[in-house]
Amino acid sequence: MRHSERLLVVDDTPGVCDLIRDVAEDLGYEVQVVMSRDDFETVFTAIDPTLITLDLQFPGGDGVEILRYLADQGCAAPIVVISGFDTRVVSSAMRIGQTHGLRMLGSLRKPFSIQDLENLIAPIGVRTFKPGAADLREALDQGDILPFFQPKACLVHPGGPAICEAEALARWQHPQHGLIEPAQFIPLAESTGMILPLTWTMVEQSARQLVQWRAEGLHLSVAVNIAPAVIQDLDYPDRLAALVERAGASPEWFTLEVTESGAMRDSERAMDILTRLRLKGFNLSCDDFGTGYSSLVQLYRMPFCELKIDRSFVVDCIDQPEARVIIRASIELGHNLGLTVCAEGVETQDVFDYLHAQGCDSIQGYHVGYPVPATDLPELVREASRRLLEIES
Ligand code: C2E
Ligand code: CA
Ligand code: CA
Repeated sequence: MRHSERLLVVDDTPGVCDLIRDVAEDLGYEVQVVMSRDDFETVFTAIDPTLITLDLQFPGGDGVEILRYLADQGCAAPIVVISGFDTRVVSSAMRIGQTHGLRMLGSLRKPFSIQDLENLIAPIGVRTFKPGAADLREALDQGDILPFFQPKACLVHPGGPAICEAEALARWQHPQHGLIEPAQFIPLAESTGMILPLTWTMVEQSARQLVQWRAEGLHLSVAVNIAPAVIQDLDYPDRLAALVERAGASPEWFTLEVTESGAMRDSERAMDILTRLRLKGFNLSCDDFGTGYSSLVQLYRMPFCELKIDRSFVVDCIDQPEARVIIRASIELGHNLGLTVCAEGVETQDVFDYLHAQGCDSIQGYHVGYPVPATDLPELVREASRRLLEIES
C-alpha cells in the first residue's frame, strides 16, 4: 500500500540527504532520494511525491530546470528549495516556481537546523506545536501576526485583465516554530475573543502597506477577512474607518470579506453594521458563497458589492457537472443582484478559462499567484499581470 506522505529529496550531498531522511521518516514520510538529473524523472513518476525538497545545484542539471519540468507535469506537491546559495538566488528560484504556478512552500539555506526543517515539512496533522491562548496573546503583542497577500485578477478591467486587488491572509511568524497557517490559530482567536485585535492588526498593517505601495506607484486594494464575531459592535464602522484614515489610507481601498453565515447570524444588527461600513466607503464581499445557511432574500437585502464563490465548487468544476451548475447559478444570481462575482481556488488554466467564459469578473487562486509576504507582492503582481495580458492576446 502506498504511504500517504511521500517525500522526494533532490540533493547530491549525502550528509544532507541522510539528515532530511531521518527527520522526514520521524514525521511519517516515505522518503526517496535522487542524486542526479538522469534518475529524476523515473523516480518522480514512480513515487508521485506529496512533498519535494529541491537542491538548486546538482550533477547533470539545476533546480530551475527541474522547476520547469515539474510545472510542465502539473505537479501539485509543495516544494521546498534547499540551497547553499545566498538568499537572493533562493528567492529568485522561489519566484520562478511561483510564476510557473508551482506551490513553493518555503526555503532553507544550508546549513539549516533540524528544527527549521521540521517546521517546514511537518504535515499539518503531526505538527507538535499546538498554540494556546497565551501564545496567541503574546504573538499579537509582539507583532508576530502579519498579512501575506494573494493577488486577485480582475478580468473586466477597462485596460484588459489586471491585478487590482490582493487578499490579506493572516500568518503567524513564530520565532521557534516558523510560519503557522491560519487554520491553526483563527479558530482559537475566534473562541477567545482575540479575533478582534487580530483583525485590527491585519487592517492596520494592510493600510500601511497600501500607502507604501501607492507611493511606489503600485495602486492596489486589499481584501481583509472579517469574522462574524467582529461585526457585532455597533461602533465598529466608525472605529475601523478611523483606523484606516490614521494610517493615511482610505476605506475605498478596502474590501471586507464577510462569510455568508456570519453576516446572517443576527440579521438586523449585521445589516445595520454592514450598511454603515458601506456608507463609510468600505466595499463588502460575501465570502465562501454557497457554503452558508443564508436565504437568498437575506443576500439580496445585505449591501454586498461582491459575491465570492467558495473554492470547493471551483476546484471540482472541470470534472463535476453539479459544481458547474452552482458556479453558473452563482454568477447569474450575483450579476442579477448588481454584484461583481469572484471565484477563489483557481488552480489551473482550464478552470480559469471556464470561469472567464462564464463571465466571472475576477479570479483568485494559485494559478494567478500564491499568498506571499508584502515585500514579494510587487514583483508577483508584475509577473502575474504580464501573464494575464499574454493569455488575453
Ligand atoms: P479564505 O478567506 O477562504 O481564504 C482563501 C484560502 O484559500 C487561503 O488559505 C488561501 O491561501 C487558499 N487558497 C488560495 N488560492 C487557492 C487555490 O488555488 N487552491 C487552494 N486549494 N487554496 C487556495 P489560508 O491563507 O490558509 O486561509 C484560510 C482561511 O483562514 C481563510 O479562508 C480565512 O477564512 C481564514 N483567515 C485567514 N486570514 C484571516 C484573518 O485575518 N481574519 C479572519 N477572520 N480569517 C482569516
Ligand atoms: Ca476570504
Ligand atoms: Ca473563501
